[in-house]
Amino acid sequence: MKVVRFHAPGDVRIEDSPEPVPGPGEVELRVRNCSTCGTDVKIYRFGHHHIVPPRVMGHEIAGEVVALGENVSDWAVGDRVQVIAAIPCGHCPDCRAGRMTVCPNQTSMGYHYDGGFAEYVIVPAAVLAVGGLHRIPPGVSFAEASIAEPLACVVNGQSLVRTGPGDDVVVIGAGPIGCLHVRLARARGAARVFLVDLNAERLHLAADLVKPDAALVGAEVDVLDEVVQRTDGRGVDAVIVAAASGRAQEQALRLAARQGRISFFGGLPRTDPVIALDANEVHYRELTIVGANGSSPGHNAQALELIATGAVPVADLITARLPLDQTLDAFEMVARGEAIKVTIEPSR
Ligand SMILES: [Zn+2]
Ligand SMILES: [Zn+2]
Repeated sequence: MKVVRFHAPGDVRIEDSPEPVPGPGEVELRVRNCSTCGTDVKIYRFGHHHIVPPRVMGHEIAGEVVALGENVSDWAVGDRVQVIAAIPCGHCPDCRAGRMTVCPNQTSMGYHYDGGFAEYVIVPAAVLAVGGLHRIPPGVSFAEASIAEPLACVVNGQSLVRTGPGDDVVVIGAGPIGCLHVRLARARGAARVFLVDLNAERLHLAADLVKPDAALVGAEVDVLDEVVQRTDGRGVDAVIVAAASGRAQEQALRLAARQGRISFFGGLPRTDPVIALDANEVHYRELTIVGANGSSPGHNAQALELIATGAVPVADLITARLPLDQTLDAFEMVARGEAIKVTIEPSR
């Protein structure tokens, strides 16, 4: 079979590999869609401290079951399934308390296990052990199901930042994750959602699809002024920073209303993770700052349900579909920001 294998930063090869055989407790899938994201581009360029090369990349996986290892029940050849990306251990104190996204023993598809940029992938026993393989609901395509993984991360982020009915929300960052945040905020009953990005072209591409109440180009307008005006000087109830920008995080604190909640959804570069924060603003204005680290198996199930019910449509966010041998082109498209979501279809 053909796979996309990471060997070293800048050295990702499309190569032949033997079709894998599922071991005990494992399931083999024919990959129908594996979608790309900014993380893939980062891995391609800089590597990742959790990846021991060589490793098949790809973590937004949907496919069909083609073979079962020993001791696997509950699954059958032909089942349409979606796979979690982050795999909690299931038995540490955090996992047992339901805090699976912060499991210290977490492993990941495409990092510790071979991923989905391949014609076939093995679902490890560790995924099945934590309920991380999900049936794709009827009516949901493989391509849509592959978006359940990033949507699951967005579900985790918004449950932590508690977006809800009547909220005014600012989303900073108009990439695919920002688009999903706009749609999920609406599904959770937000009153108004404002979308912000420095890049006008990327913002308008996103805004055309997800229709925020305002699309604010950070490079052209004073975002704080615009938000303050639109909220009668109050600021917004929740600010979600879906961009790897310390400046955006600092700005988020100023955009929040009293008792506002701020999500540092995106991580900052490892080399530059420190921001300026006026602690008295947090203290006197009773602000809440939360993080977000991936998703749990439960969040993935919720994401599939949100897609299936139409609460969070994702089909129109998939703006490009490429075969496996064009995966590096897909990474370039993602890096240039010229598509919302690019999905790889290895079986076509
Ligand atoms: Zn991803
Ligand atoms: Zn754990």
